[in-house]
Amino acid sequence: MIFKIGIFTFLMVPYLASAEARAFSDYAPVLKHVLEDALPINPETGIYVREINHGVHVVSDGIWQSAFVVTEDGVVVIDAPESYAPKIRQAIAKVTDQPIKMLIYSHAHKDHIGGSAAIGDIENLEVIALEGVAHFLKEKQDPNHLVPTVTFKNKTTIRLGGKTIELAQQRNYHSNEGDLFIYVPAAKFLMAVDTLAPGYVPFSGFDLTSNFHEYRKIFADILAYDFDVFVGGHLTGLGTREDVKMTEAYTTDVYKTVKRIHDDTNMMTVMAETAEAAGGWDNKYLLFKAFLDKIVVQATAEIEARWVGKLAGVDVWTDTHVRTALIYVR
Ligand SMILES: [Zn+2]
Repeated sequence: MIFKIGIFTFLMVPYLASAEARAFSDYAPVLKHVLEDALPINPETGIYVREINHGVHVVSDGIWQSAFVVTEDGVVVIDAPESYAPKIRQAIAKVTDQPIKMLIYSHAHKDHIGGSAAIGDIENLEVIALEGVAHFLKEKQDPNHLVPTVTFKNKTTIRLGGKTIELAQQRNYHSNEGDLFIYVPAAKFLMAVDTLAPGYVPFSGFDLTSNFHEYRKIFADILAYDFDVFVGGHLTGLGTREDVKMTEAYTTDVYKTVKRIHDDTNMMTVMAETAEAAGGWDNKYLLFKAFLDKIVVQATAEIEARWVGKLAGVDVWTDTHVRTALIYVR
């Protein structure tokens, strides 16, 4: 027997959300204003390059985002995404004759820095990263990325050709090796990679956080900076303070909804009902899963209905956010 409640399909055992895939056509289209705000990718180069101000440029291929800062004494590159790193040098040459002197890593993840070997032939290039990031990359020995040559513990300020870039390690919200916020005060420009994606819900499981307790605090951390332009490292748009507040509101809603439904759901009742349908108590994992799934299904449906018109990707990732919040609540 199969019956459907909302988007989920249940098989025999009540509450167990069996993962029957949704048809592509059942997903909400990406919101109109998000599509309209998308950075226009140059079809010839496959990337977008634009000066924000004070020499700060944003680069994107529509999925990843990085930056570079042109100074009077050379260029500072910030991240070298695997997907378009070989194009960065050419993009810089189009806007300045200044040579590339420094490369900063936001964090150790390959998708953001894994193309750095493309500028590895530049003489005396300084590759700047947190100590933990450098240690990890040295051990990993991936020939596609450069090993950092300049490291620091928590924070440092880069000064080159009259420009100032502030680097500060953040709380443990994303990668194990450490994450930087990269801030150019003169440009009111903040880059905080893998925190949020303007216009969209965060990526799976709140950007793969292993620490939802800390993740919830990063919005306040971001808003403590005086910035006008925000780069989150992913997807189609640049962000504003409003985008940060919107994602914070979504995150808080997920947490509160999951907590309420969890606290209102009696675990033993759900397990007993499931045991009856499953023919006994032997399979404890299955019974407990039914309890978790019941909460996930209910919370996901509620949250999706509230946010589907406000952020893109709600129906793609909300169930993963709910699971992350549920593990935290428990
Ligand atoms: Zn990452």
